[in-house]
Amino acid sequence: MLKNNLGYPRVGSHRQLKKACEQYWAGKIDKGELHQVARKIKEENWQLQIDAGIDLIPCNDFSYYDQVLDMSLLLGVIPTRYTQVVSSVKENDELDLYFAMARGYQKDGLDVTAMEMTKWFDTNYHYIVPEFTANQEFRVFSEKLYAEFNYAHQYCGKAAKPVIIGPVSYLLLGKEKEEGFERIDLIKKLVPVYVEIINRLKALGAEWVQLDEPYLALDLSKKEKEAFAYAYQAISNRISGIKILVATYFDALLDNTHLAVNLPIAALHIDLVRAPGQLDEVLALIPERLSLSLGVVDGRNVWKNNYQQSLELVNQATAAIGSDRIMIAPSCSLLHSPYDLDLETQLDYGLKNWMAFAKQKLTEVKELFDISQGNTTSLQANQQALDTRSSSKLVHKEVVKQRVADITDTDAQRGSAFAIRQQLQQKRFQLPLFPTTTIGSFPQTDDIRKLRAKLKKGEITQAEYEQAIEQATIDTIRLQEEIGLDVLVHGEFERNDMVEYFGEQLEGYLFTQNGWVQSYGSRCVKPPVIYGDVSRPKDMTVRWSSFAAAQTEKHMKGMLTGPITILQWSFVRDDQPRSVTANQIALAIRDEVVALEQAGIGIIQIDEPAIREGLPLRKANWPTYLDWAIKAFRISASGVQNETQIHTHMCYSEFNDIIENIAAMDADVITIETSRSQMELLEAFADFEYPNEIGPGVYDIHSPRVPSTEEMVSLLEKAATLLPAENIWVNPDCGLKTRKWPETKAALENMVAAAKQAREKQ
Ligand code: GLN
Ligand code: ZN
Repeated sequence: MLKNNLGYPRVGSHRQLKKACEQYWAGKIDKGELHQVARKIKEENWQLQIDAGIDLIPCNDFSYYDQVLDMSLLLGVIPTRYTQVVSSVKENDELDLYFAMARGYQKDGLDVTAMEMTKWFDTNYHYIVPEFTANQEFRVFSEKLYAEFNYAHQYCGKAAKPVIIGPVSYLLLGKEKEEGFERIDLIKKLVPVYVEIINRLKALGAEWVQLDEPYLALDLSKKEKEAFAYAYQAISNRISGIKILVATYFDALLDNTHLAVNLPIAALHIDLVRAPGQLDEVLALIPERLSLSLGVVDGRNVWKNNYQQSLELVNQATAAIGSDRIMIAPSCSLLHSPYDLDLETQLDYGLKNWMAFAKQKLTEVKELFDISQGNTTSLQANQQALDTRSSSKLVHKEVVKQRVADITDTDAQRGSAFAIRQQLQQKRFQLPLFPTTTIGSFPQTDDIRKLRAKLKKGEITQAEYEQAIEQATIDTIRLQEEIGLDVLVHGEFERNDMVEYFGEQLEGYLFTQNGWVQSYGSRCVKPPVIYGDVSRPKDMTVRWSSFAAAQTEKHMKGMLTGPITILQWSFVRDDQPRSVTANQIALAIRDEVVALEQAGIGIIQIDEPAIREGLPLRKANWPTYLDWAIKAFRISASGVQNETQIHTHMCYSEFNDIIENIAAMDADVITIETSRSQMELLEAFADFEYPNEIGPGVYDIHSPRVPSTEEMVSLLEKAATLLPAENIWVNPDCGLKTRKWPETKAALENMVAAAKQAREKQ
């Protein structure tokens, strides 16, 4: 039995790589210094794994920016717009080209855009999307993989296991950049390069190579399945003396089980945290030559492993195929876990004792191995920690559980149907045709951020802080009045982040000091942790919304984050279904909505930008998720009178395949991001004859560019051809917090002018 690891976080325990990269980009350190920081991180990571007795220590899991971009460089998939960058950077020095592809390049008269970025499966990690052309050629371009292997070999004193993305997943992760071909058909051209790579690794002394093929756990077309069978057969025919481990994760193999276990490879890794149920079938079908890596330690969450449960899986596998063919491993790369729980000096010992970050997860792999070998010393402490968690009063609150159990269908239902509510609300608010509003936040300038930092350090008092925030709020309200917006917002100056702000005020949440996880490139996020039953001890936003409402005669919109977005952007409990946690949060938000209503706030927005990203990877699991997720939103929104207008906001996302569910949210008004698609995203709403009101964003807030009145008028006219004019709102695509004041003001002035013109034309 071997101890396996698929990958380790690489930003460094104190985000050293983030800082070094940013300094390098700013020209403050040179390449040598950057490499030095990287080398230290790798050494530290390897040392931890050596200490934990990991047999298959990964290398090349380190990346300066993104492992998919590393693959594109390895395979020479470099879009032609970088040709000039290639020739302008020195030979054998690909790092600047690499960063140019990641971030764009503006130097020496060149101006090249960055490659596109998108979410890595259902994680919050974002990768750089490979771009393919019909005549795509592949060749080994980058030497990084070999350098990493050699250095690991040297450091560890034995061959590490190089990690690359498998050929089929690599193709599927990318995008066709021209018409007339399917990227999966490139597999024939791609395989020879993989053969070359693997043979070279073998020549350098590698015994194992890990090929990540997460797509094996997703829905595959017939052609894609054939590509898997073809690629691995073709590779296996032309290599020898090196073992391939194919890693799958994030879901179950299901209908791909037969395909996966019959690939001509040495070992297959499966995710038994996300999908423990797949073990039975895998064991039933596994051929005798195949080893199985059991992903039993959760690589996606922060909780201590349940040894007893994991051992049952290990024992089941051992009984079926013998311990020689078993590996124990985390469920996926530990990239998605924070670094080291030992760095959390401010966490209560009781809570800390329930958790495990990447470093602790290595120990868990080791201890699970030891236990399976008969050394059970760690079992008792593990059981004790789990017992205290499952019986803790901090975690389990009867009142909260009871309230969730008592939820009825009526709780998820507004008093009357939308048509009736619309009339009542129109009577109450007397809004013009094409009413104007914004999505919530206004520019979060350095001054505002500094205020919060000063408050944290104790350099200003709470009263001083609040006074400054009040002033920013008042100024923003005056500005909105001057611009002539119809429904105002308070500006969200009091918020650091749309989830953290609520998490800090809810019970059942904890915050880490160093629980950073890479989101993309040098960007890291520190998700709050939901550890217990969630409740709302007191009002969260009423103070700021009431303050704002009292400053103006105009309508003031209250601003909340919805239950699914709060759930999605936190580490969640693993001891109850996500749906239960979602309902707990939904009830807390519902209470806040009602409190706002009682404070006289008649329009309340509940943001849900993350509903779509919560969709399960397998389509068959969509309906169940959508059912509870939409219901959780409705629970949060349905405690109010018909006359209270509920808004929701969702960022750029395809609505086609979930439009029915979006409609089922039954928000009185939904604002969405549509400007970059020239209102194309509205078509789904039009085809569905979406009945409620809708604000299709008329300008892109991601760029400082100020849109003209004319272009927004024309977008509005387009929207009015798709939807009834009386249902259309006018607003930007999203919140304005990343923008600067001058462009914000100019753009909103044009937007209000556009609404006026559109009104006159009707
Ligand atoms: N109300 C939030 C804001 O304006 C919404 C942000 C979001 O959708 N991501 O910032
Ligand atoms: Zn948004």
